[in-house]
Amino acid sequence: MRLPTLWPRAPLTLFTNARGYSLALEGAGFGAMLVREGLIERLFDDPTPHVAHARVVDLGGRVVLPGFIDSHFHFLATVGLSVLGARVSYLEGATLAPASLAAVRARLQALAARKPPRQPLLFYHYIVPAVCEGRLPSRRELDAWLPGRVVTVLAMDGHSSAHSTAALAHIGLEAPADGVLTGTAHEFHTGKINAFFQSQLSLGMLLRGLVATAHDALAHGLTGIRCLEGFDDDPNDKSLWLMTRIAAALPLKLRTVAQYLDPARAERHAHSFTGRRLGGCGAWEMDGAVSSHTAAFFEGYADRPEERGACYYEAERVQALIARAVAAGYEVSAHAIGTAGIERVLTAFERTARDRPPERAGGDLARHAIEHFEFPTRDQVRRALREGLMLSVQPGFAWFDGRYQRSYERFLAPEVLARQVPLRTLAAAGALLLGSSDSPVQHLNPFVQLQGMVTFPLVGESLSVFEALRSYTYNGAYAVHEEGQRGTLQPGKAADFVVLDRDPFQVPRDEIHTLRVCETWVDGVQHHPGPKPNPWALLLKGLLGARQKV
Ligand SMILES: [Zn+2]
Repeated sequence: MRLPTLWPRAPLTLFTNARGYSLALEGAGFGAMLVREGLIERLFDDPTPHVAHARVVDLGGRVVLPGFIDSHFHFLATVGLSVLGARVSYLEGATLAPASLAAVRARLQALAARKPPRQPLLFYHYIVPAVCEGRLPSRRELDAWLPGRVVTVLAMDGHSSAHSTAALAHIGLEAPADGVLTGTAHEFHTGKINAFFQSQLSLGMLLRGLVATAHDALAHGLTGIRCLEGFDDDPNDKSLWLMTRIAAALPLKLRTVAQYLDPARAERHAHSFTGRRLGGCGAWEMDGAVSSHTAAFFEGYADRPEERGACYYEAERVQALIARAVAAGYEVSAHAIGTAGIERVLTAFERTARDRPPERAGGDLARHAIEHFEFPTRDQVRRALREGLMLSVQPGFAWFDGRYQRSYERFLAPEVLARQVPLRTLAAAGALLLGSSDSPVQHLNPFVQLQGMVTFPLVGESLSVFEALRSYTYNGAYAVHEEGQRGTLQPGKAADFVVLDRDPFQVPRDEIHTLRVCETWVDGVQHHPGPKPNPWALLLKGLLGARQKV
């Protein structure tokens, strides 16, 4: 049976009149690009060269960059929330709403009124620091506001949640009297919460969510995504299987990190992976996040000096987890935000490397990572560099927080704030910074993250525009061993590129977040703008299409 070709490959296309940046070297540019069968064949300085038999696409003098690669992204959660969830907090001019629990009540009731009367309610993106009471609603409040309903409210940082009595019963969660889960009580039960809400998703909803997420990603210039997937606490978790089907259906280059603790569990999916990657968030979280007061520090939080967060695992356990995964041939990454959380995972990486000097077949070193690495000491920065660890960063959060939330300056002592990951120092020393959004924690728009990188709050630690763009292109490809195939625009590499409305090297520094993607091309085929694909054609392609490794 021959499947309908959703995205045909053009045989030979010449893209002319480009203001192209290959990002292979700073300042390296081109005026035209010849693409054969999805691969770049040749770059020209001349914007209008003549090539026989080529279809010509005139880019009209606009800026061309490699397609963006988001290196820390929870794809299935983003898909699920896009159809099942309702977003709580939003910007009203320059202030965040809702700003009080009374306003939260009105907001939740209004959002619930738009949903079918029996549908469980999943509210997300609740910005705790934006609410003057500084907390999630309690079980009693949710029961009173939406009587009898299954209600779950997820904090924006993804590290705490509130549940109504019906939700606790339906999901099968144990919670303190107020119905609020934080720390390990939240983190290590996200699989249960996910499994329950996933069971509410019809196939049609799942497909709609997929189409919407893929459309949004392509519209923002993403061509590749490193997806952190899987719920260790759910024995029937289907995440990795789903990812292989989704990857077969979508033009996005999805690569997966399995969030299982036991390499044997990931091993069952090994044939579906392009590489052996274990870790991420979920069960691999060493600590929580700042706005939930669960990021682990050696000193107390500024507003609650008695609290310093807690590492979720003993040092020996972290060491054993990483050593086992590395021994099984996996590249490992782990979430760590606070200084104490970073210390735990960094020490485990150091000991593992000492006991088992890193090597890989072909002499290619294993690419381990720490996800977030947000508040390291200078000594930890030096040690992470020495270990050659990749570091996924989401500086758009600090940018957004400084502008609208001001939670960091309220919750963290000045000496902790001054310890924010020194982007420039790291990049200058050759560290691989992986630009990422942590979607659905933040919106997937890369320009918000790039903005955070080039106007970083630490003096002298902003990245240059080139360094920032590299973190979202080349470095993302490197993270999954595909820097030879994509990540820069060079002959032999995939023609994955974006066309922008303005030049990031020319606009004022504080306007980077206002840049827009006009076009997105993957393997030489235009995917944005374009019609949304038919969900049922996607389904066919996902189920019957050529197997796609992730
Ligand atoms: Zn994450």
